[in-house]
Amino acid sequence: MNQESLNRFLRYVRVDTQSDENSPTCPSTAKQLNLTKMLQQELAVLGIESEIDEFGVLYAKLHGEPGLDPIGLNSHVDTALECSGKDVKPQVIECYDGGVIELGHGYSMSPEQFPNLAKYKGQSLVVTSGDTLLGADDKAGVAIIMSVLAYFVAHPEIKHHPICVCFTPDEEIGRGPDHFDAKKFGAKYAYTVDGDTPYDIAYETFNAASATVKIQGKAIHPGEAKGKLINAQTVAMAFDRALPEKQRPEFTEGHEGFNHLVGMEGNVEEATLHYILRNHDQAKLAQQKEDFAKAKSDVEQAYPGAKIELTITDSYRNMKEVLDVHPEALEKAREAFRKLGLTPTSKPIRGGTDGATFSFKGCPTPNLGTGSYNHHGRFEYLSVSEFETMIEIVKTILLA
Ligand SMILES: [Zn+2]
Repeated sequence: MNQESLNRFLRYVRVDTQSDENSPTCPSTAKQLNLTKMLQQELAVLGIESEIDEFGVLYAKLHGEPGLDPIGLNSHVDTALECSGKDVKPQVIECYDGGVIELGHGYSMSPEQFPNLAKYKGQSLVVTSGDTLLGADDKAGVAIIMSVLAYFVAHPEIKHHPICVCFTPDEEIGRGPDHFDAKKFGAKYAYTVDGDTPYDIAYETFNAASATVKIQGKAIHPGEAKGKLINAQTVAMAFDRALPEKQRPEFTEGHEGFNHLVGMEGNVEEATLHYILRNHDQAKLAQQKEDFAKAKSDVEQAYPGAKIELTITDSYRNMKEVLDVHPEALEKAREAFRKLGLTPTSKPIRGGTDGATFSFKGCPTPNLGTGSYNHHGRFEYLSVSEFETMIEIVKTILLA
């Protein structure tokens, strides 16, 4: 076991870096800077200069062989909102017996609940103490990048590409790449190290849009309502029913897109529905948008007198569009996997990544794994051997 890399990881997860979607500042929480500043100090010890900009984004560069493409690496320092990241007490299980793991605080995990665990029998895992998340998402990524930098600094005889590093805040609240500056970053292409299995190179994200449906009804005293009342909430329910039922997230997987009702509020007079629309295929997303337009006209016909206002806004796009035209990042990663005797998969991500935005900002950026699983909750864990495999993969990608 590479104790130094593991120690890095254990050190980083102990720093509380939860982001906050209700905060207007950037970074959303000042405590994220505690880790970013710690990283800056550790980089300085390695002799690597770095800069933390006004938005809390850290940029650093390790010089490499002149003439080779600068390759970028990114991870995010914040942790998810769903579970506390305060006072994380990581537990290292040195030789997992394949049975039930008692986390603490009345929680345990077992291969019955999480079948993936069975394959780590006899190996080392890092788990939580049951009352917080682990924060391997994405501090495992941060530790992988720092370990790779430390390795190349310790081995100046090993020739490698120039390495551009950037650590971002606020990924978990979708604001991570808002202030990402591709020019300052300086990479020809990059990788986010922010996934689970180390054996996957992900480069397909959803195309994403959101829809707001505002319904204006007609409120009348219910005692005198006959023939006059139009209940906006009834119309809202009819609108939801008018959309294709099988395109709800609970019926979809793989490359299947969905329309997801994420919020609704209202009264008799007016009601509002909030949806997110997702599809890997831009043409199919366009069809989903048409389904919304059709639902609007159908429901307007069924409820004359109700007014429906439909607004659809695009958010992020599938990075595959960019990577199909600029495949160097994928080719370079696949070559590294081959050198290590590994065959990577490429599963479509059913979400977005910061890499999608990086890609559209001019830096093609697929996503790599970290060897950690069950993100965003108390059952999060890290496979130490997969974490170490990931360090080897990233190193190999960067070799000259
Ligand atoms: Zn993440």
